[in-house]
Amino acid sequence: MHISKYNVGYETGALPQVNLPSPLTAEVVKTKVVSSGILRAEIDPNSVHDIAEQEQHALVWLLAEYSRYGAGKTYRQIVPLGASGVGQVVFRYDKERNGTATLVGRGVPLSTAEAGIGQLQQDITQKYAVTITGNWSAVELTKLRRALSLVPDADLDAVRGLEIARVDSLQTTVHNGYVLAVFEYGLAPHITSLGKISVANKAFEGDDKGFHGSGAQVYPPSVRTILHEVGHAVESAPPRIDAWNNTKLTVEGRQPGTVKGYGPISQALIDDAIQLRYQNFVEIGKVQSLAVNAYNAVQQNSPQAAGLISECEKAGGKLTTLAEHLKKMKKEAASASAASDLVDAVSAEYQALTRLYNWGKKLIVGEFKTHEYADLKREAQAMPADTPWRPFYEELIRWCDIKLRRITWNETHTGREQNRTGREQNFVHYANANSIDVELTNYSKSYWSTVDKYGREFYAEAYSYWLVHPDALKAHHSALLGYFLKGSHRDNS
Ligand SMILES: [Zn+2]
Repeated sequence: MHISKYNVGYETGALPQVNLPSPLTAEVVKTKVVSSGILRAEIDPNSVHDIAEQEQHALVWLLAEYSRYGAGKTYRQIVPLGASGVGQVVFRYDKERNGTATLVGRGVPLSTAEAGIGQLQQDITQKYAVTITGNWSAVELTKLRRALSLVPDADLDAVRGLEIARVDSLQTTVHNGYVLAVFEYGLAPHITSLGKISVANKAFEGDDKGFHGSGAQVYPPSVRTILHEVGHAVESAPPRIDAWNNTKLTVEGRQPGTVKGYGPISQALIDDAIQLRYQNFVEIGKVQSLAVNAYNAVQQNSPQAAGLISECEKAGGKLTTLAEHLKKMKKEAASASAASDLVDAVSAEYQALTRLYNWGKKLIVGEFKTHEYADLKREAQAMPADTPWRPFYEELIRWCDIKLRRITWNETHTGREQNRTGREQNFVHYANANSIDVELTNYSKSYWSTVDKYGREFYAEAYSYWLVHPDALKAHHSALLGYFLKGSHRDNS
């Protein structure tokens, strides 16, 4: 690949590592330049100041050494500079193989831990509300913290609640994409967690070979890899966060206090919470049976009468009133007729309630239209939901609300194309409208062609470069940088 408007314009850590000759004299360098056939080898005046003579020799020798890898290319490489250690160097070759080396900085970026493991974990989990799992070293956590510090505040809601796991290795996929890191999440109206970023050993293996950024803002490749996964989290944030809020409301509505912080929530809790209770009418039927049985027991002077009356008293509402009349009904005709009317009223309410539950049961097996949940909820709300019926009506309303939130989620997030988020579709639309080629990186292109022209890897690649090296995005297409600078990557509709 050569530099064109269709890529970030450089390769990171792609050159083989070499040892400098010793001693590295001006004569040795001159011989190297001649034998390499390079026409011009220059040190960029925009390099760091105070370049030592040994460093100059090293840079020119390396320009000659690496010139064989192709005209028209740019490499960002960590290379040996002699006694001063290693440096971050940009090697540029024009089409005639004239070479320029820019010494950006010395040392390997972020190669020393900024604090202990415990302190870093605490900092990160508190600031970003994430969970950190697996065996992270202090240096790796330093890189993770730096990566997250680059995420704009407006995107931090996408990071909240994520698990960030350190794993040894990851499965290779068809386009060789998930070897370094991966973001996994559910795209459904109910989810057990907000998602998980896994980072493998390989993500850190290139950190002593290449770098991103410029000047004081230089980052190891792993920082970009992590931000690529954060890019996926940002792209999928609206459906994930809505689904999470749905799930939390659903589970808390059934079992208050079970959802701690950002989860995770067990599938069993979700499965339990989305059920419509009382469908078999056992509990609902008990209320009506109590009224009828108590009335009959008094009528027949049964020894059970006193106990049933006291149960009616405890049940509340109409049943409490019924109990008062039952006590007097043998002596007072007015109470006898009132008790009989109340038993009829309770039976009528039982019929009304079971009608609504039968309606709900029909909706469960799928004989419904979307608006029916709203209709059923409205009818349940309109019922005289005093005790002892209230829990049954509340259950119907709770259950309809869950269904209505699921419908809203589906309408909001899968309205256009299944399994594609609004942010991703907007991004692809914008890229097409502005003739921004998908080949920002080899990866964004290969994923695009392998997986049904989905732009999610393109989005994640662009997002990561925006944060570690915005000029790289601009090198690809200025409109691409503009998209992120304007915050258009957060547009969901
Ligand atoms: Zn990806």
